[in-house]
Amino acid sequence: MGTKEVDVLIIGGGPAGLTAGLYASRARLNTVILEKGRHGGQIATTQVIENWPGTLKAGGAELTDQMAEHARRFGCQIIKDEVVEVDFSGYEKVVKTKKQDTYVAKAVIIASGAEPRVLGIKGEREFRGRGVSYCATCDADFYTDASVVVVGNGDAAVEEAIYLTNFAAEVTLIVIHDEGILDATKVIQERAFANPKLKFKWNSVVEEIKGDEAVTGVVIRNIKTGQLEELPTEGVFFFVGTLPNTSFLQGKIEMDARGYIKANDMMETSVEGVYACGDCREKFLRQVVTAAADGAIAAMAAEKYIREEEFFRQEVLQQEKPVLLVFWSPMVEASLPVVADAEKLQEKWGDKIKVTKIDTYRNTKVARRYGIERVPAVLLLRQGQVVAQIRELEGEEMEKALSSLIS
Ligand SMILES: Cc1cc2nc3c(=O)[nH]c(=O)nc-3n(C[C@H](O)[C@H](O)[C@H](O)COP(=O)(O)OP(=O)(O)OC[C@H]3O[C@@H](n4cnc5c(N)ncnc54)[C@H](O)[C@@H]3O)c2cc1C
Repeated sequence: MGTKEVDVLIIGGGPAGLTAGLYASRARLNTVILEKGRHGGQIATTQVIENWPGTLKAGGAELTDQMAEHARRFGCQIIKDEVVEVDFSGYEKVVKTKKQDTYVAKAVIIASGAEPRVLGIKGEREFRGRGVSYCATCDADFYTDASVVVVGNGDAAVEEAIYLTNFAAEVTLIVIHDEGILDATKVIQERAFANPKLKFKWNSVVEEIKGDEAVTGVVIRNIKTGQLEELPTEGVFFFVGTLPNTSFLQGKIEMDARGYIKANDMMETSVEGVYACGDCREKFLRQVVTAAADGAIAAMAAEKYIREEEFFRQEVLQQEKPVLLVFWSPMVEASLPVVADAEKLQEKWGDKIKVTKIDTYRNTKVARRYGIERVPAVLLLRQGQVVAQIRELEGEEMEKALSSLIS
C-alpha cells in the first residue's frame, strides 16, 4: 500500500500495453504496466498465432512473454494488480488499484483490451484454443478442409462464416431464429444464402461442446421441438459480441455506446495526457499487429506530451517574470516577423520579461488550450494566468503596448 510517482502508467499488459511499455521505457520514461492477470492478454490464451509479421508460427503465450521481456529490458516494470479507479481531472493523473496502491502519473495509457462474450456453454471454456475460437481472421487457416460450426447470426457472425468458407469444407451456422431469418444486414444475408458451402441449422442453439484432446462435435437443441442432435465438427466459432474492459472508466472518458474508448490517430482520448490503444478503443481491426502499432503510437504521443508539458510548466506556468507567449507557425509567413520582433524585445527587456515561442504546427495542444485559432497571436501571462492579448503585433507598437503592461 502506498503512493508511487511515475512518468507513464499503462493499464493492461496485452500486446498493446506491452508495446507501449517497450516504447515508453526506451524513451527513458519511468514506466509501469499494471496487469490484473498474467501478462499477454487475449492472445496468450491462443495456442498458435500465424499472422504476426516475420514469425511464421508462434505460441500466443510465448510471443507475449518475449514482448514482456523486451519491455523489461528497457526498464519497464510489469506489476500484477488491477486498476479499479481513476481520477483524470488534474494535470497529474491518479490511478488506484485493487491492492490499494495509488499511482500518480504524468500520462496514462489505457490498454485494457476486450473480451469475447462467452455464453458459458458446457465445454466452451475447456476447449478454448483447442477447437473453440472467437476469431476467424486468427484461426480460419487451422480448419482448412474441415467442418466447422459458427454460433451467432448478426453481421459479424455471418461475415466470419462466409470468410471461413474460404478454408473449411463446410460451415454450419447455428441460428436461433425461424428458417430464413438472420439478424445480419440484407446484403450480407444474400451473400450467405448464395454460398454453397454455408449450411444453416434453424431454431437451434448449442447445448454442449464435445471432444477429447480437441473438439470433435457439438450437441445442438431445436428450441421449438426440444430435440437434441449431435453434429460432428472440428471447430466451433462464437460471434455473439465482444465486451471492452472499460467499466472502471465510466464517466471519466469519452466512449461509444458499446463502451469502446474514442481516440484519434495519435491515440489521444477526450482527456489530455490520457491515451487509449488496442482492442479497448473504437477501431476497425482488432488484432495483435494493430494493438502493437497502437501501443507504439500511444507511447510516442505520451512522450511528446510529457516533454512539451514539462517544458511549458517550467518556462511559462512556473516562471516568475511575465511571459510573452508568441504563437507562430513555420507555415504562416506573416508570423515570422512577429517572432523576430518578440526576440528583439527579449534582448532588450531580458530582466523584465520572458519570451516563449509556441510553434502551433508542432504543438497544437497549447494553442487549443488558449483558444488560439490563427497565428500570429501573442498573449501576456503573469504567474501562469493570461493578463492580456496583445493585438499590436508590429515591432514598435508591440513594445509600446507591452511597456505599460510590464512596468
Ligand atoms: C482466442 C483468440 C485468438 C486470437 N488469435 C489471434 C491471432 O491469431 N492473431 C491476431 O492478430 N489476433 C488474434 N486475436 C486477437 C488479439 O488477441 C487481440 O486483438 C489483442 O490481444 C489485443 O491486444 P490488447 O493489448 O489491446 O488487449 P488484450 O489482449 O485484451 O489485453 C488487455 C489486458 O489488459 C488487462 N486488463 C484489463 N482490465 C484491466 C484493469 N482494470 N487493470 C489491469 N489490467 C487490466 C487484461 O487482463 C489483459 O491482459 C485473438 C483473440 C482471441 C480471443
